[in-house]
Amino acid sequence: MLGTRGDIEIFKVDFRLFDEVVTKLKEVGLDPRDSCGNSVRNPIPCTSQFCPYAHINAEVLSIFIGDYFRYKSEYEHPLLPHRIKISISACERACAVPVAQDIGIVAKSNGKFDIYLGGGIGEHAFSAKLAFTDVDAEDVLPICVGVAEVFRRSNERRGFKWVVKLRGLDKVKEEVLAIAREVKPKLPKPPDLSPRFIKSRIIKVPYPTGWVTANELIKLADVADKYGFSYVLLFNNQSVYIPIREGVDKIEELSNYEIKSPGPIYPEGPITVACLGNELCPPGLIDTTSLGRKIHIHLSRLNEPIRVGVSGCTHDCGMSWIADIGLEPFGSKTRILLTIGGTPTALGFVIGTVDPKDAELVVQALLDMYRGSGVRGVRDFVTKVGIDAIRSELAKHVPSFRPPDKDIGVVFGPD
Ligand code: SF4
Ligand code: SF4
Repeated sequence: MLGTRGDIEIFKVDFRLFDEVVTKLKEVGLDPRDSCGNSVRNPIPCTSQFCPYAHINAEVLSIFIGDYFRYKSEYEHPLLPHRIKISISACERACAVPVAQDIGIVAKSNGKFDIYLGGGIGEHAFSAKLAFTDVDAEDVLPICVGVAEVFRRSNERRGFKWVVKLRGLDKVKEEVLAIAREVKPKLPKPPDLSPRFIKSRIIKVPYPTGWVTANELIKLADVADKYGFSYVLLFNNQSVYIPIREGVDKIEELSNYEIKSPGPIYPEGPITVACLGNELCPPGLIDTTSLGRKIHIHLSRLNEPIRVGVSGCTHDCGMSWIADIGLEPFGSKTRILLTIGGTPTALGFVIGTVDPKDAELVVQALLDMYRGSGVRGVRDFVTKVGIDAIRSELAKHVPSFRPPDKDIGVVFGPD
């Protein structure tokens, strides 16, 4: 399965072969370390080497930060109380979704960085806050180490976002900076981060809800070998991007897909992103794959850059809160929280809840309203039409729709 952090998840590995599988992955440079669990996860960069807007080489910065933390036991379970997620966007368009990260790094045109702290969308949604602005490249890793240290010492098992919430951003900034100053002389200096733009064109092959067979991946790898650079790009949207060498205008093997100029990943779509759901994930409350696939039929008819995110529980691995339309189930008598208008820099607005049986219908109704409004862009649609008007319309068309009641704030607050 293509995940939402540029990863590939391999299921149903026979546990007797587990070590052998991991060894084979490492042999081809795919170390699964820090892809899950309580650790400083592998940072996710935007695809800056294939985007003309990039101010820096986000991939190089991501490897630099990730390599620093890898195999450092003080930043792993059991010493780290929860995971830390980092993303790097190479320009202000922020395709790597800083709003939902513990540390969201965004490069600026002046050669410096903005750093957002304390975001997170699993188990209570928090928007990351702009904590540091105009940060020099050589201070980025010290700040990341500062965050990891403050968090490790806090022992806050619900995540760094709660440390920011409970202590306040100013206090956390002070603590992070004090540690950053102390550790900076001992840390490696950043590599050359100048942007590296690889002239190419791109084919995007989306896999709505994420599932892809090994044979399909082999086919895409063959295309990358024959027409591109012998590699593909993965990002946060369950799609495979194949950079193609200039001058190639037609690819027989993927004739249904357009070869596009390289550019920003966001806005994107139509795309339906879904987590594993209850078929394979113990906390899952709904079958995200079937729901996502049904929804995708309606979405692809609209053929607009709209992202739908479907999660199986409040951990929100389907990133519903930053999707144009997000569905996140909760509760012992499962209801689905509906959010709309999320972006990489702003969480979606809470619209209300529906029964799982009405989840497809509510998305259909929303898409009809959106299309009828004439407004382009889902966040603009919400602000122009108004949340109350959207709620009243949904109440007419979706039997189980309910606007938020007081319980929702408790489950999903505070942002
Ligand atoms: S537009 Fe998006 S992909 Fe391109 S550099 Fe900016 S953040 Fe990265
Ligand atoms: S069911 Fe929950 S924990 Fe499992 S992948 Fe989906 S959101 Fe994550």
